[in-house]
Amino acid sequence: MSSDLETKQHFDLAKLGLEISQVFEHIDAAALIVDQDRRVVAANGLASDFFGYDNDELVGQETRVLFDDPADFEELGKSRYNDRAEGGFGDRYVVRYRCKDGSVFDGATVGGAVRPVEEDAVYFFGMITNVSRQTAAESALNRLHSITSSRDLNFEQRVDAILKLGTEHFGLPIGIFSKITNDQYEVQQAIHPENALTPGMSFDLGQTYCSHVVNADDVRMFHHVGQSEIQTHPCYKNFGLEAYIGAPIFTDGERYGTLNFSSPVPAREFTGQDVELVRLFAAWLGHEIARRRDWRELEATRAELERLATIDPLTGLYNRRYMEDCLRTELDRVKRYNKQLVVGLLDFDNFKNLNDNYGHDTGDDALKLFAKVSSEMMRETDVIARWGGEEFLILMPETGAAGALKYLQRLTDRVRKSDFHAGDVEVKLTLSAGLAIAAQDDTLDTLVSRADVAMYEAKQAGRDTIRMSSED
Ligand code: GH3
Ligand code: MG
Ligand code: MG
Repeated sequence: MSSDLETKQHFDLAKLGLEISQVFEHIDAAALIVDQDRRVVAANGLASDFFGYDNDELVGQETRVLFDDPADFEELGKSRYNDRAEGGFGDRYVVRYRCKDGSVFDGATVGGAVRPVEEDAVYFFGMITNVSRQTAAESALNRLHSITSSRDLNFEQRVDAILKLGTEHFGLPIGIFSKITNDQYEVQQAIHPENALTPGMSFDLGQTYCSHVVNADDVRMFHHVGQSEIQTHPCYKNFGLEAYIGAPIFTDGERYGTLNFSSPVPAREFTGQDVELVRLFAAWLGHEIARRRDWRELEATRAELERLATIDPLTGLYNRRYMEDCLRTELDRVKRYNKQLVVGLLDFDNFKNLNDNYGHDTGDDALKLFAKVSSEMMRETDVIARWGGEEFLILMPETGAAGALKYLQRLTDRVRKSDFHAGDVEVKLTLSAGLAIAAQDDTLDTLVSRADVAMYEAKQAGRDTIRMSSED
C-alpha cells in the first residue's frame, strides 16, 4: 500500500525495518523523519496539514524553516537531534512552529534518534501534536487571573481588560458588557474597532444575538451566521455580524445582562474550551457587579450613619460634636492665615418657665422654631449647631464683630416676632447672646467661654439682648 510517507534517496523504510507508514496513518499527530543534516526525509499527511506544505515540498526541507524561533532549532540540535544521540525519544517538549503561510502554532513534541541496524547513519523521528488551543486557553486563564486579582484596577478598568482579553482570545473584534431590562439591551461597556459603541446605547433585545442567550439562559455561539439556521436574524440583516459568542451574566441568581463578542467576518469554530472561558468571564463579572452593588449600599449606609452622627435629632441642626470639629478647623485657619472668625452663643430666656407653664413639648417646639428660622437666615459660610439644651452656637467665618452683631440681631428679632403659640396662648420667645472674636492663640475652650461670659452679661443686663465679650 502506498502511504503518505515519501521516501527519498538513500532512505529506505525496509532497511529501517519499520513499517512506520502504517503506524503513521493511524496516529493523531504530525510525524516526521529527518536525516542527520536535519532535512525531512518523510512526513505523514497530518504534518502537511499542520505546516501547510505539500508532502513533496516538505521532503528535503531543512527543519529550521519549521521553527518560529531559529534558536529553538539550534538548541534542539545541541540537546537532542545530533549524531551522538542515543536511541529513545526523551521527554515531551512544547515549541512554537511556523507554517508555510507564516502562521504559528504551539506543538507538543516527542522525538529522538533512530539508528537503522545495518546503516551507519542516524535518523531522527518526531511526533507533533498541536497544543495551541490548550496554551491559548491557559494564557487566557492566566490573564483573567491577573486582571481579577489586580488591586490597581477599578471595576471599569477590569471590565475593559476582560473585554480586551475576550476579543483577542476569540479573535472577535467587538466585545460588549450589556445590561438587559425586560426587552431592552443596554451597552454598559464595549470595545469596538471604530468605537461605534458607547455606554448607554440601547437596542431591542430581539435585534441582538443575545436574545438567544437570554432564551437559553446559557452560552450561545455562531461562528458563521450566513451559513447557519439563524441567517434571517435581524442582527444579521441589520448589522451583518457573522460570528458571535455570548454568555449570560447573573448577579445573586438574577439575570443581569450578557457578555458577548462578535465580528463582521466568520470565525473559526468555537470549542468546548471557548464555551467554558466565556462562561467563566461572565461569572466573574456577575460576582464583581454584586460586590460593587454591596459596596455601594455599604457606602451609602456609612454616609448616612456619618450624617446621623453629626445631626441633632430634635432640631435637625448640627450637633455639638460636629460644631467642635468645625471650630477646630476654623481656629486653625485663624492661626495659619490670620482669618477673621466670630462665634455667637445664644440661649433662650426663661426657658424653664416655658416648659413649666406649657409643657415640655411646647419647649421642644420652640427649639424647632429656632432651628427653622436660623436655617432660613443662615449665610452660606456660617455653621449653626445645637450646643446644649436650649443653647445654640453660630460660627461666622470671614466676619467682623459689627457684621456678626447685626446678623444676630436680625436673627433674634425674627424669633421674637415669630408667631409662636402654646395652645391658644401667644408666647414671645426671646434669646440672649454673647459674641466673641477669635484671637490667634485661642483654643476652642477659651473662645467659647468668652462668648459664654458675654452671654451671661446679656442675661444680667435684662435678657433679650446681645453682648460682645468685653475682652475683645
Ligand atoms: P435663662 O434665661 O437664665 O437662660 O433661664 P432658663 O430658664 O432658660 O435657664 P437655663 O438656660 O439654665 O435652663 C434651660 C432649661 O432648658 C433647662 C431644661 O429643662 C430645658 N431644656 C433643656 N433641653 C431641653 C429640651 O430638649 N427640650 C425642652 N423642652 N427643654 C429643654
Ligand atoms: Mg441654658
Ligand atoms: Mg436659658
